[in-house]
Amino acid sequence: MDNMNLEMLKKKQENEVSIIMVPFPAQSHLNQQLQLACIFSSSYHLPVHFISSAAHNHQARVRANGLKQSDIDKIHFHDIPTPDFASPAPDPNAFNKFPSQLVPSYNACTLLRQPISTLLHDISSKSRRVVVVHDVLMSYTVQDVASLHNAESYIFNCVSVFCMYSSFICLPNGMPIPLDEHLLQKLPILEPDAPEEINKLVEFQLKYTDIRAGDLYNSNKILEGTCIDLMERFASKQNKKQWAIGPIFLAAKVDHVSDKRNKCLDWLDKQAPRSVLYVSFGSSTTFSDKEVMELAMGLERSKQKFVWVLRDGDRGNIFSEEARRFELPDGFEERVEGVGLVVREWAPQLEILGHSSTGGFMSHCGWNSCIECVTMGVPMAAWAMHSEQPLNAFFVTEILKTGLVVRDWKKHEEIVTASAIENVVRKLMASEEGDEIRKRAEELGAAVRESIEKGGASQVELDSFIAHITR
Ligand code: UDP
Repeated sequence: MDNMNLEMLKKKQENEVSIIMVPFPAQSHLNQQLQLACIFSSSYHLPVHFISSAAHNHQARVRANGLKQSDIDKIHFHDIPTPDFASPAPDPNAFNKFPSQLVPSYNACTLLRQPISTLLHDISSKSRRVVVVHDVLMSYTVQDVASLHNAESYIFNCVSVFCMYSSFICLPNGMPIPLDEHLLQKLPILEPDAPEEINKLVEFQLKYTDIRAGDLYNSNKILEGTCIDLMERFASKQNKKQWAIGPIFLAAKVDHVSDKRNKCLDWLDKQAPRSVLYVSFGSSTTFSDKEVMELAMGLERSKQKFVWVLRDGDRGNIFSEEARRFELPDGFEERVEGVGLVVREWAPQLEILGHSSTGGFMSHCGWNSCIECVTMGVPMAAWAMHSEQPLNAFFVTEILKTGLVVRDWKKHEEIVTASAIENVVRKLMASEEGDEIRKRAEELGAAVRESIEKGGASQVELDSFIAHITR
């Protein structure tokens, strides 16, 4: 490049708004940040920097859910040197299902303030404005944004607005939760299930959230209009802006056809429309041997078709060691041949949920799984495991009414029996009640999908956010 071209390139950069994404190092946060990064860079042509440890950047890329490789290639990944951290396997017999095995990796990544600050300064010196979009749990780490003359930050919240509003606004401030009395009676009572270290980490990060200029939510007004409006009112009193831009996986224009087609999709091609139950519990749930046996027996006895993703919960570094391989009852896979398929690798969840043969989703109710399921118009068998998942299960089954509960949260310390599983699967997949729920789920899904079309609620919010940061 000659001197004149170099000079022009420098000038162009100086006029640009650069985005810096700082995710929390857990799969369900990494994937949402990566989807959002692709929206900024591919749909709005903004330069995007994605900052995490080498292992977590790699994890985000190899598990990118239906994103186009050409879109991912436009993002500048920065592997930040990170202190070594222990990466134990999850404990299948732990007292509760919070993924405590991930704590060392969480702790290591929250120590990255200094290298992130250096990078912020560098990018700030070459840009008109720097916009940091970070996880709430990285608020301490990105605090130096406040010392830059041309930078501002936004928290990208990876949970539902209902959960944020009820747990973080109403409860601590003694404000009423916006639900009718009969629903309030049913609202699950969450007891803290995370280890003390996590509570401290959260408390510590929350001290630095006031630096932000506003919030982004992976949700929209069709799903949570009331809570979004109330949250907006609360935020504006604190001078914070907000945008509800979800479901971002749709806005990221995910391609439902990956290069390497998983065999379960070929199997789904051969099944009748809406006949298959997809069974998967996200990236962090682990089961005991006994729980796997009950689930296997329940699915078999239900006589319904299924695709079951049987994987262990993630380690902090998913590349450090092979995951545990679960045993199934003797002869299980032979007996269910033609009826059910067991998948032991990372599954293409969006493609499965979007497949016309899929008619139900048994899920642990992580927010990604909920919004993906609702958007694809699939009814849910909701089986919350930990953290805010019981609230998500309540949201899907009681507020949206697009699912059935597998196990009442009050009984979460008891093992879920094969007969309970058999009953709920039959009800969802082969009963009039299940058909009604499916119809409602399909109608809601269609409305949510429309919100991301031109002029739809989420698309308008997304355009408004971009207009704001590029002002
Ligand atoms: N997922 C996937 N394949 C799998 C398991 C999970 O693509 O085999 C994706 C799923 O689509 C979702 C994310 O991983 O986007 C899991 O996030 P969620 O919030 O549902 O649960 P978590 O992993 O936090 O428990």
